[in-house]
Amino acid sequence: MNDAVRTPPRHAPRSGFPEREGQLTVGGIPLARLADRVGRTPFYAYDRGLLDARVAELRAALPQAIKLHYAIKANPMPAVVGHMARLVDGLDVASGGELKIALDAGGDPREISFAGPGKQTAELRQAIAAGILINIESFREVDQLAALCADTGWPARVAVRVNPDFELKSSGMKMGGGPKQFGVDAEEVPALLAAIGKAGLAFEGFHLFAGSQNLKAEAIVEAQCKCYELALRLAADAPSPVRFLNLGGGFGIPYFPGEQALDLAPIAANLTQLAERAAAELPEAELVIELGRYLVGEAGVYVSRVVDRKVSRGQVYLVTDGGLHHHLSASGNFGQVIRKNYPVAVGTRSADGPTETVSVVGPLCTPLDLLADRMELACAGPGDLIAVFQSGAYGASASPQAFLGHPAVVEVLV
Ligand SMILES: *Cc1c(COP(=O)(O)O)cnc(C)c1O
Repeated sequence: MNDAVRTPPRHAPRSGFPEREGQLTVGGIPLARLADRVGRTPFYAYDRGLLDARVAELRAALPQAIKLHYAIKANPMPAVVGHMARLVDGLDVASGGELKIALDAGGDPREISFAGPGKQTAELRQAIAAGILINIESFREVDQLAALCADTGWPARVAVRVNPDFELKSSGMKMGGGPKQFGVDAEEVPALLAAIGKAGLAFEGFHLFAGSQNLKAEAIVEAQCKCYELALRLAADAPSPVRFLNLGGGFGIPYFPGEQALDLAPIAANLTQLAERAAAELPEAELVIELGRYLVGEAGVYVSRVVDRKVSRGQVYLVTDGGLHHHLSASGNFGQVIRKNYPVAVGTRSADGPTETVSVVGPLCTPLDLLADRMELACAGPGDLIAVFQSGAYGASASPQAFLGHPAVVEVLV
């Protein structure tokens, strides 16, 4: 099957939002009309057709044995989570608040897992009452869960989140390997497994998550192989057979010039091999990958309206009603080392018309409030709509919306 997997199109990020009669469209709706329908700017629009297409593309590429989970941290908008819950095999949450969203969305508790350092007693109690799988990340959590089980009479379903003894290479954000606040160091896992057995918690498997935003298929393949080997080694000390093995994710999307879409084919080929090995070596285990950004990131666009056009010593500024407070990532202040422009377009002007070099800035009194730094965009002025692409993940919920007292951003699923 994997030989037939096509390489993803090396399309420009905006191709999901085609231009019609000089305007960008979202789900077939011209942007100015969508803005009227939403009622105000700025807003995020997520295209459900693009969400469907992305999941379908993954399903076609990956072996059937691999289960696909959505990490809702990437975009916790309830309508998006409700939509994704019907498309994927499970949901991953990282707080009691996200657990509520996942349950409200209709997520099956048997297929919801909970990871995150510093889970509070109240959150653990919510988790066992809901019957979801808890990824244990410290010895404290074992003791606390044992006490909660005794107190409530509910069983606790647990897996061990392992901090691996290697790193995910070429990752935008490393979340495993070396000293980390996430998971339990691989070398301490045997002792943790003994504690879990002694406490009588229902052990179900392992969770390994090495990092995020990776565009190199070879690096992901290598990490998934190492994760599998590590889990296989650790399984020898487990109190019961492994039923659930979460190999993480980290699939990235291209944001910046020169970046290429992730090639799924080698990843799919490798997962096919791992699934075959698992069928023999961990026969009761379900193999899972958990993705956030890759599933939703390219399906979203952030739209703001130009309020003013200013020229300062020869440099043109389009000042919009949106900015850093709604879209910290696009401003370059969410984990980027060197600021680069997200893909941006004037959504109410044809890309084929006259252009000029402009900076798109927001209304905040800080020079950090920058959506586009000297980009070649269609000539625009007050009233025009600016679209920031690749905005479906780590947008609204990852931004300091209260900063400077502007209204909260609207989100729509189109
Ligand atoms: C953040 C996170 C994810 C999602 O990462 P993406 O890069 O958005 O795919 C998945 N699992 C865990 C444990 C996470 O913390």
